[in-house]
Amino acid sequence: MSSPELLQRQDPEVARLIEEEQERQRTTLQLIASENFASRAVMEATGSVLTNKYAEGYPSRRYYGGNQIIDQVETLAIERCKQLFGAPYANVQPHAGANANAGAYLALLEPRDRVLAMRLDQGGHLTHGSPVNFSGQIYDFISYGVRESDPNREWLDLDQMHQLALEQRPKLIVIGATAYSRIIEVDPVREIADEVGALVLFDAAHVAGLIAAGVYPNPLFTRSGGRGADVVTFTTHKTLRGPRGAAIIAHEDLGKSLDKAIFPGLQGGPLEHAIAAKAVAFGEAMDPDFRQYGQRVVDNARVLADSLSAEGFRIVSGGTDVHLMLVDLRDFDAELDGRTAQVRLDRSGITCNRNQIPFDPRSPFVTSGLRLGTAAMTTAGMSTDQMKTVASLISRVLRTDDDQTCQEVRREVADLCRSFPPPSER
Ligand SMILES: *Cc1c(COP(=O)(O)O)cnc(C)c1O
Repeated sequence: MSSPELLQRQDPEVARLIEEEQERQRTTLQLIASENFASRAVMEATGSVLTNKYAEGYPSRRYYGGNQIIDQVETLAIERCKQLFGAPYANVQPHAGANANAGAYLALLEPRDRVLAMRLDQGGHLTHGSPVNFSGQIYDFISYGVRESDPNREWLDLDQMHQLALEQRPKLIVIGATAYSRIIEVDPVREIADEVGALVLFDAAHVAGLIAAGVYPNPLFTRSGGRGADVVTFTTHKTLRGPRGAAIIAHEDLGKSLDKAIFPGLQGGPLEHAIAAKAVAFGEAMDPDFRQYGQRVVDNARVLADSLSAEGFRIVSGGTDVHLMLVDLRDFDAELDGRTAQVRLDRSGITCNRNQIPFDPRSPFVTSGLRLGTAAMTTAGMSTDQMKTVASLISRVLRTDDDQTCQEVRREVADLCRSFPPPSER
């Protein structure tokens, strides 16, 4: 799908930038763990006339006329979302993951209420209580982290969470992360929450697609099918591979307050073009092919992690169960920091982000690590053979600081990418 002709004629400046970005996406490796390639169908829905309609409210409870068809669009998205996750309730209006979390907090908490969430420098998200984010300014966040030493070094520290819950009596425990490579089981967290009378919010922004594919446990329920998390928020554009946006699923009793929190509490008119695209993505995720996709994402991540270990990198927590991994650069090269590595990889056509590792001695701007994910390149069709190649390219680039190696690798990356175009190019 190249830039539409009309745009080229009417606004060549914007058209050219879109084309340049398309070229970047098609000739470089996308290893940013939160990114993916949406299908042409998802993009068509996103680019549809539904963008023209105001639909404040919810299906059959709108503030504007003319919503007979829009109601069907949103109802379809809600029903598919519920079916996909076995959820009693769904809200498909959040414009982004940050909004979904804001809506959940607004529904469940009063200002100054105490919340337990994961430390931001150990995998948590800005909306989990960062002082520069509304969450940290409005609510009283206390953080748990990962274990500093063996056994289970760098795995979620449930003992610490339990201890903090007993001491701090939070109203809500938030689990789910942005840079954590292990499965987080809801069962032990539900037990801790029940002991102190707290609610549980699972932020599945990253892993929603893996849950839909059945390769990650559904946090809405415990292993025995009981109530797990009270509320689950997730983005639709990361592993779920849909349009930029988010959704909330929950148990029935919380539905009313969640609806009220998203609208009129937090947002105005819903983005119905994005909601239609979410319906398309939920439909795609129900297809048996998507289960295979999820499994391949995880297989690719394991092989990439193993291959990087073989190249002398240390993988945080010893490996991965999901689509992403954190790479500690210090064993490979004590002098090499995350910022330098990110720039050098970028020059070589390998796109990823620097990331703090747990107990990182370097600042968040410098860092000692990289975060890598396999969701996008798996969508492009890559499998474990290509992951071994990618690991060796990464190691080649980071072993030297000469520009010629970067240029050579950049050409090899472009060659590799030619065989694995994004779905919009097929
Ligand atoms: C990405 C992410 C979000 C925010 O999603 P946006 O759509 O960027 O607002 C929230 N929580 C977690 C854990 C995330 O990884």
